[in-house]
Amino acid sequence: MSKVRTRFAPSPTGRMHVGNLRTALYAYLIAKHAGGEFLLRIEDTDQERYVDGAVDIIYRTMQKTGLIHDEGPDKDGGCGPYIQSERQASGIYLKYAKQLVEEGKAYYCFCTKERLEGLSRTVGGKEINVYDKHCLSLTPEEVQSNLDKGMPYVIRQNNPDTGTTTFHDEIYGDITVDNAELDDMILIKSDGYPTYNFANVIDDHLMGITHVVRGNEYLSSTPKYNRLYEAFGWEVPVYVHCPLITDEEHKKLSKRSGHSSYEDLIDAGFVSEAVVNFVALLGWSPDDNVEIMSLEELVHKFDYTKMSKSPAVFDYTKLKWMNGEYIKAMDFEKFYDTALPYMKDVITKDLDFRKIAAMVKTRIEIFPDIKDHIDFFEKVPEYDVSMYTHKKMKTDAASSLALLEDVLPILAKCSDYSNDSLFALLSDYAAKKEYKTGFVMWPIRTALSGKQMTPGGATELMEILGKDESIKRIEDAIEKLSNTQ
Ligand code: GLU
Repeated sequence: MSKVRTRFAPSPTGRMHVGNLRTALYAYLIAKHAGGEFLLRIEDTDQERYVDGAVDIIYRTMQKTGLIHDEGPDKDGGCGPYIQSERQASGIYLKYAKQLVEEGKAYYCFCTKERLEGLSRTVGGKEINVYDKHCLSLTPEEVQSNLDKGMPYVIRQNNPDTGTTTFHDEIYGDITVDNAELDDMILIKSDGYPTYNFANVIDDHLMGITHVVRGNEYLSSTPKYNRLYEAFGWEVPVYVHCPLITDEEHKKLSKRSGHSSYEDLIDAGFVSEAVVNFVALLGWSPDDNVEIMSLEELVHKFDYTKMSKSPAVFDYTKLKWMNGEYIKAMDFEKFYDTALPYMKDVITKDLDFRKIAAMVKTRIEIFPDIKDHIDFFEKVPEYDVSMYTHKKMKTDAASSLALLEDVLPILAKCSDYSNDSLFALLSDYAAKKEYKTGFVMWPIRTALSGKQMTPGGATELMEILGKDESIKRIEDAIEKLSNTQ
């Protein structure tokens, strides 16, 4: 078998949708798993949908996700150009379309918009527009004379209208359609540009693509592509159509969800590797069910024949969990660099941010979560004294007030505000008084943070806040508790 070659063929229309990222990833994994090549082709022939800057987004996303192509616009592998508008300018598509016209497998069509609109019919509540082959009956002389007159034209595929066409998809199996349903689709548009439908076949063939990976929205057009391969006498590639991605409500994942593109997710504080890992599982899962996988492991394990055809649900909760696992496993320096802007967003004081980072690293799922965990370092939030009541610690507001008043002078005398020494001091105090540690620590921690949950214990918080601030917060708490007794 020839070397596996796959391609990612995005249209530069904006941010990279999760579905496109999955297509790119699966195409990459199929190629790399087989020791093959992965190509990047820019499909920019739809001028109306073209968005400035979108090509840069594609390059950037591929780079950041590690889906490095072997050939593409910036890496010539002998099949260029790799940008469709450049291919169009070189006349490739027209040349192949004309070849089909000469062989009677395609034809010029001069029908006006008005005539075409008149052909639309409603079938089963749906408006369909099947061309009636009107221009197929034009003689070569009539065609030439129209062309000479400069009449606008398109070139259409000449599909049979009887019989059936069958093709095989690796995920969806054999699919058979009635040829009567195959419209004579346009290959070359009136602006001289090829349609996606035509260009993808020409390009995939000329670029030696063995496996075509794309979204299942292209499944219904695939019989027409097959007809084109047959018309040219070219080998049909292996088709791998990926299942739909839905949101948790089982509706197609749309831009409105706010997390439908790679960049949305990065902006929301997700880690690139986690996103790639998660996206890999939208339609496939490994036999061993181990879900956390690096790109390298994915290359090793990915098996497209095990892909599922049922829609894949984009489970945001699972993505967050997975991201948390990546954050836990992240190198501390990298974590610190990424976390710092989030910490500085809520803390203006000059605190030991490295210590704070170390405290929260195992507690967050996405970076913005950091803020809720540490905002009290800046300022104690408003809180209710009922927070001092803790059944297990056997504390309440009155016992807490007494305790804080008792430990304040001890803490005021202490000069070593390291966690270890504070912990030893307070444990000692608890032992002498025959208190449980929690009975001592709970009120102090509440006084320092005004929060039910903090990323560290009382003494860890004091180490970061420093002596003056810790004492001040305990004094404030004593006042608050005294006023509410
Ligand atoms: N340009 C098409 C898209 O972005 C590519 C489809 C394909 O992979 O064949 O949807």
